[in-house]
Amino acid sequence: MLRLPTFDLQEPKSLYGALALLDEHGKNAMIVAGGTDLLPNMKHKLFEPEVLVSLARVEELTGITATDDGGFDIGAMTTLADVAASELVQQRAPAVAQACSLIAGPQLRTMGTLGGNILLDTRCQWYNQTYFWREALGFCLKKDGTACHVVEGGQKCVAAASNDSAPALMSVNASLVFERLNERREVPVDSIWLADGIVNKDVKPGEILTRIHVPAQPGEHRGAYGKLRDRGSIDFPLFGCSVRLAVDDANVITDAEVCAVALVARPIRLKNVAEALRGVAIGSPEFEVAVQVVADAAYKQCRPMDNVPGDKDYRREMVPVYVRRTLLAAVNGDGPVHHV
Ligand SMILES: Cc1cc2nc3c(=O)[nH]c(=O)nc-3n(C[C@H](O)[C@H](O)[C@H](O)COP(=O)(O)OP(=O)(O)OC[C@H]3O[C@@H](n4cnc5c(N)ncnc54)[C@H](O)[C@@H]3O)c2cc1C
Ligand code: SF4
Repeated sequence: MLRLPTFDLQEPKSLYGALALLDEHGKNAMIVAGGTDLLPNMKHKLFEPEVLVSLARVEELTGITATDDGGFDIGAMTTLADVAASELVQQRAPAVAQACSLIAGPQLRTMGTLGGNILLDTRCQWYNQTYFWREALGFCLKKDGTACHVVEGGQKCVAAASNDSAPALMSVNASLVFERLNERREVPVDSIWLADGIVNKDVKPGEILTRIHVPAQPGEHRGAYGKLRDRGSIDFPLFGCSVRLAVDDANVITDAEVCAVALVARPIRLKNVAEALRGVAIGSPEFEVAVQVVADAAYKQCRPMDNVPGDKDYRREMVPVYVRRTLLAAVNGDGPVHHV
């Protein structure tokens, strides 16, 4: 049996209390939200904080509200189950609701939060293992070692961003609000990702992610999320993609976006998607051609590595399949797309 190491649990009831505790304990403290990722990682000795500051009792961080700009706000402690079930999110940003509905399994979605998902640690099949297992292999660059087992001779960790909500939030141009004692910043979600598998997020010490803002989507908005995974019931993504389309009254696409995850350390925004789809009428012969152009572009731009489980060549072949299916699901409003 894997045991949790000893730590001091702090359970503040206000945001200010949580910020003050983080300030007081500095590098010795970590935030715990639902704990569905952090606690297993602590059992594997991947993180060894002396103090855990739980946000579970900070009520002001929970809830979903419509905003005056036609978008909505989600408190960082809102559970994945609540985001997935929200009619507001389903209507205004279907890809976000769909991505959350496919994360892990029902119990984990009831405990796991959107904030914890955004700030999920990167994953790698040589890293998300027990201490004993990692020690037998000589550890690796990300924790306790000096070599990478994915890229021979590599000096940079390429563990994969594996959070399903990340590409969905990128596709709808969400922003994130971070607070720390006497400081607050709101940044586009894209700006926090770093191309470094060891720490792939630009979050300052002592900062708490408090709120996620999704703005009103332009035109008639359509969106969907597609996820390749081994088991339909529960699994991290082997590849995930999120589609956003803006459509006018004549059913012509005016803007388009595809974002993807489970490839490298940061989720990516695919290039040349809007160029291929803009001005194309849905259902026209040009539409079929444009969808294929986007699927081909995805194949060229997405190169899965041996970081997460699943044969990388198989995963690459599935990239255009999932991008194509997810685009069609966004058009038809019948996402999410996933293996069952
Ligand atoms: C079997 C299994 C399957 C899973 N499948 C998936 C999957 O398919 N897709 C997927 O994306 N995830 C998956 N997960 C991972 C996890 O369940 C989810 O990502 C979940 O959303 C994490 O949220 P949490 O609240 O539990 O985060 P926690 O574990 O509490 O925290 C995760 C990280 O975020 C930090 N953090 C949390 N909240 C904040 C905040 N508000 N401000 C600053 N830092 C914060 C913590 O310090 C920690 O570093 C799976 C987990 C398990 C055990
Ligand atoms: S990619 Fe995997 S094996 Fe390589 S350093 Fe990162 S976690 Fe370790």
